Formats: sequence, C-alpha cells, structure tokens
Amino acid sequence: MHIGDGGQERLNTGTAHSARVYDYILGGKNHYPADTVAGDAMVEVWPALPVHMRANRAFMLRASRYLARERGVRQFLDIGTGLPTSPNLHEVVQGTAPESKVVYVDNDPIVLNYAQALLNSTPEGRTTYVEADMRDPDAILGSAGFRDTLALDEPVALLVVGMLHFIHPGDDDHGLLRRLLDPLPAGSYLAATVGTADFAPQEVGRVAERYAAEGMPMALRTRAEAAAFFDGLELIEPGLVQVHKWRPDPDDEQVSDEDIAMYGALARKP
Ligand code: SAH
Repeated sequence: MHIGDGGQERLNTGTAHSARVYDYILGGKNHYPADTVAGDAMVEVWPALPVHMRANRAFMLRASRYLARERGVRQFLDIGTGLPTSPNLHEVVQGTAPESKVVYVDNDPIVLNYAQALLNSTPEGRTTYVEADMRDPDAILGSAGFRDTLALDEPVALLVVGMLHFIHPGDDDHGLLRRLLDPLPAGSYLAATVGTADFAPQEVGRVAERYAAEGMPMALRTRAEAAAFFDGLELIEPGLVQVHKWRPDPDDEQVSDEDIAMYGALARKP
C-alpha cells in the first residue's frame, strides 16, 4: 500500500475539484458544497453533462471487461482513476480473472483519502494506489507501487480515461503517453477517452468555460487530434468512435450523439 496522510488542508475543500465534480454528477457521495455548486452550474449550461459522464464511465467498464475476457489481459495501469465508483476497474477485471493486478494513479489528494475502496483486491490478485501526476511518467513508472505490482514481461493495459482533457498539448501530451507506453511489452494496450467539442461546440464550450473559471482549464480535441494519441498502435474494432458507440451493450442507456463529447478507443501495442 502506498498511502500518505491526505490532510484536510491538502484537499482544498473550499474549491471545486475535477474528481469530486465527476463524483457528484455520477451520483456519488464524496464531494463538498463547492463541487455541487460548480457541478450544478455546468449542468445548467449543458444539461447532457451527466449523460456524457455516464457514457465515459460505461466505456471504461466495457473496455476493461473486454480486455480481461477477450484479450486475456491481467495487468492494468489506470491513470486518472477518480474517486471510487462502483464497480471499480479491479472489480470488473477480477470478476473475470481473480489474479488480475491493478495499479491506480491519481494526482488529486481527495482520491487518496478514499483509496481504501480501491484496495479491496481479491486474495489472488493485487491492487495498489500511487499518488502521482501523469505529467511525470518517471514518478509513476519508478514508484514502488508500480514496480512491485506489475511485471513488464507480460502485457499491461494502460487506461487514460476521462482525464486527457486535463493534459494540455503544452504538457507534451503525446510524449507523455509515449513515455508511459515505452516500457510496456508488445501486446500491451492503450484504452483512452478524449474530450471533444466536435458534436456540441457551443454547449461543450460553455462547460469548458465553467471548468476554466474553477481553475481547471480543459483541452478539447478534434477527431484527428484524438486519433494522434493512438499513432503507432493497432486500433481494435471499431476504432476511434464516440464512447457510446464503442462495443455497446444492448442494455446501455440510449443517448444522442450530440450529448457525448468524448471519443474513445482501444489499441494494441505491436
Ligand atoms: N478515469 C475515471 C475518472 C475520471 S475523473 C473515469 O473515467 O471514470 C478525472 C480524474 O483525473 C480525476 O480524479 C483527476 O484528479 C485526475 N487527474 C486530472 N489530471 C491529472 C494528472 N495530471 N495526473 C493524474 N491524474 C489526474
């Protein structure tokens, strides 16, 4: 376990935080008044925001289930985990293969405070939490949590879901992903979702303004910019699509295209 103390003042509960706003809109319990005020203001400018966020979460669950069931992946590195939301990634993949190992990474101390729920591994498997920033891949790859949990002679699925809009091109966004994928062996996977204003430019633009006003500026990307994250990898069918179109389940919530501001894809490292 790699858990720090996460003292209250580090949590900055008087200001909205992306993990807590997401939790609030998904119907979770781990947020504060600043997050509900910010979340309500965002839903007011784009009422589809909850539909969009649920579709992003559902993509994460379908992609990880597919990796466990159809691709036999047993190791997962999840960057930008967010607050525990049932089911969590490890519950899905360990439901298929109890020996699965998951390393969770987030840079928000609030997530650390609730990470106990992420560490409820099966006895056969393992889950670890690492507090680190995606913009510092060496801190992630060099952490004891990563090195002690995942073996680099077996495929690893890297998940970067619902968080690339917080990584800006000026952060060397593509370089960061490359550095994270580099040490992973051939046959590893990247599952990612990428925020876009392609389908509802005005509405999503207003949400982005709200996030920026709360100190969380967003990078929204065109389809071509989203696709570039998967350069050099082999896209799994159906390729890069809006998240609700990626291998949907028959009982998934029915949604309209303009309500989903997220591309998603799964790709294999050759
Ligand atoms: N992946 C989850 C949660 C997405 S919420 C899902 O899709 O359901 C986005 C999360 O990314 C938040 O918890 C936020 O704290 C985290 N995050 C944002 N920027 C980050 C960064 N630079 N490094 C690590 N985590 C980050």
